[in-house]
Amino acid sequence: MSSEATMLERCGSKCELCGSDNPLTAYAVPPHSHVTVDTAIMVCDKCLGEIDELKTSTTGAALTTACGAK
Ligand SMILES: [Zn+2]
Repeated sequence: MSSEATMLERCGSKCELCGSDNPLTAYAVPPHSHVTVDTAIMVCDKCLGEIDELKTSTTGAALTTACGAK
């Protein structure tokens, strides 16, 4: 059985963040980059979008800090 199938079974085919039953994507939780049962969660498109936004804004803040430091 694939990792994703195992995870889907674990979460009951619902988003592990908000419990929605929208289509789910396996997301490897940093610092992990590989999707395995132990390192990834199943999230819906909405939560995946929020995670991406969070990452972008964190990167943006880090870049701003770097620029301000010169
Ligand atoms: Zn969700």
